[in-house]
Amino acid sequence: MEINKAFVLNSIDYKESSKILYLYTEKGHLSVIAHGVKKMNSINRFLSQNGTLVKLSTTNSKFPSLKEGEIIDEYENIKKNVDTYTYMNHIMELVRNVISEDLNHVKMFGFLEKIFRKINSGDDYEVVTFSFELKLLHFIGYGLNFKECNICGNSNDLVFNVSNGGLICKEHLNYNDLSYDVDIYNYLKFLYYIDLDKHDLPEITNPERVIIRNIIDMLFDEFVSFKTKSRKIIKQIKKY
Ligand SMILES: [Zn+2]
Repeated sequence: MEINKAFVLNSIDYKESSKILYLYTEKGHLSVIAHGVKKMNSINRFLSQNGTLVKLSTTNSKFPSLKEGEIIDEYENIKKNVDTYTYMNHIMELVRNVISEDLNHVKMFGFLEKIFRKINSGDDYEVVTFSFELKLLHFIGYGLNFKECNICGNSNDLVFNVSNGGLICKEHLNYNDLSYDVDIYNYLKFLYYIDLDKHDLPEITNPERVIIRNIIDMLFDEFVSFKTKSRKIIKQIKKY
């Protein structure tokens, strides 16, 4: 089997000298056994590094093994910095755990290439990731509502509420529910809809980042019930 493009999302040791690579391709998830890649002289050794875009060929068996491969992009700049690499791993953990087989992988794959290219070229990795996470919610079927109160259709006096998955008017907000005003939800809205090819990322101050990070965490708790391990590491690095 020839695979023109695949992301190495993760890999685990298998037997003494081999690894299992968890790949994401334009056709979805794929696990491949890479025999002998842990040996120093293996020509495929470099392929088993997380966060690498590769081209490869495999056997046609049910659990394919790697024949040969080459690197298309190793995202060198992302890996030079622990902050960016941790965020990249956060994204890859999300891809591995929340994207089911029935979704449009060609679309997601192209989007991931764009996201990693932007982070690698020095764009604000945290804001790029926020946008990825918000768009991911939509992609997996939890679209957010930024149009009107989702109970009465009112378009005035709106606030953002996590358990409603979007905007709600103050009248329909439960009095003890957390809510966020327009100055914050406008960032969420912008990052949810942004075309990353056409628009520049917004400048977001540090206190606002903390709030946005928090809201996105709560959205994933509420709708996806999944937390990445990298998120814990981000918390240690960033303190939020
Ligand atoms: Zn309402």
